[in-house]
Amino acid sequence: MDETQDPDYPAEAIKAVEEAAAAAAAARAARKAANQPKVNRQTVSYLSRRFEEVGLNPNKRHGQNFLVDLNLIQMISNTAKLTPNDVVLEIGTGMGSLTGLMALEAGTVITVEIDEYLYQMASEELEELDNVIMLKQDALKNKNRMHENVINAVKEQLAIGPDRVFKLAANLPYNVATPIISNFLRSEVVPASMSVTIQKELADRLVAKPGSKDYGSLSVWVQGLCDVSIVRVMSPKVFWPRPKVDSAIIHIEHRPERRASFPDLDFFYAFVRAMFFHRRKFMRSVAVAAFKGQLDKPQVDEILQAEGLGPTARTEELSGVELQKLCEAFRQQVAKVTGIDRPVMANQGG
Ligand code: SAM
Repeated sequence: MDETQDPDYPAEAIKAVEEAAAAAAAARAARKAANQPKVNRQTVSYLSRRFEEVGLNPNKRHGQNFLVDLNLIQMISNTAKLTPNDVVLEIGTGMGSLTGLMALEAGTVITVEIDEYLYQMASEELEELDNVIMLKQDALKNKNRMHENVINAVKEQLAIGPDRVFKLAANLPYNVATPIISNFLRSEVVPASMSVTIQKELADRLVAKPGSKDYGSLSVWVQGLCDVSIVRVMSPKVFWPRPKVDSAIIHIEHRPERRASFPDLDFFYAFVRAMFFHRRKFMRSVAVAAFKGQLDKPQVDEILQAEGLGPTARTEELSGVELQKLCEAFRQQVAKVTGIDRPVMANQGG
């Protein structure tokens, strides 16, 4: 087999995709001749017919659950409040239905698709839109970083004018939604907002408050830098094929003034992850382990006491603001004892 070929796809499927592409090209030429704009509504019957034509099935591994309710597709676009100044990034082009809608409102849409057959099918759908840039690409370099091709494409578009605003809007592939949201808050280019469809369970974690079962490092990290709200909860029925769980559209609005209040954001990121790593343990023992080799037990106790935290305090009881203050106290103490201006935590959790 050709090394570049995905083992998931048989040769007949590849041939069928090519034949379908040729047929679509002929249809396009006919349409152009008749001067008719193309409108494809992403319905269950349309999608299943398109997949059947090329002999493929949606790929679970890539989280291929297509949104088939036009009102909800429109709702994602509306939530992003797109303007002609916007450079909007979509991760997961799918068949291009949200892409096409957003292209009507935004200055530029950069859309990224990992699956080469979907990329090809979407190219046919979107080819008449000259403000759409398609990337055939895994959007992630690894679980901690977005791919540089994606970041560079965004930077290039932002460089076109000083008024350009970067936004993320997508029906995200569920298996990579957490790293995408989390990484973008640490990236070279941070979206002004993220309006995305994710699993309801992840949405609950993003908006969770201290003391609740869903409250964790992700809640603190994202709420520390952004306002987060659930716009709409959606049942599996609005997707094809249907996922097993509920979903939600969320809106995450970046607050640059909050970002500016962190002297060292990387340290905070590591601190929060480490402090929530052993949820059931008392904060004291988690902190002792996290700063092992940098601070001794009396130094850890002194910091906790100064913040009014006794030996039975747990991380999950603290608000984001309290954790930010505590983090800064630890950071300054580590900087003092190590003599390093920007110290790195000894143990950063999993
Ligand atoms: N935008 C379409 C819609 O709303 O119906 C499709 C959304 S579907 C939930 C997610 C899409 O993301 C799929 O087309 C899948 O192939 C693509 N995808 C999955 N993982 C990806 C990755 N790491 N990078 C880029 N695209 C990815």
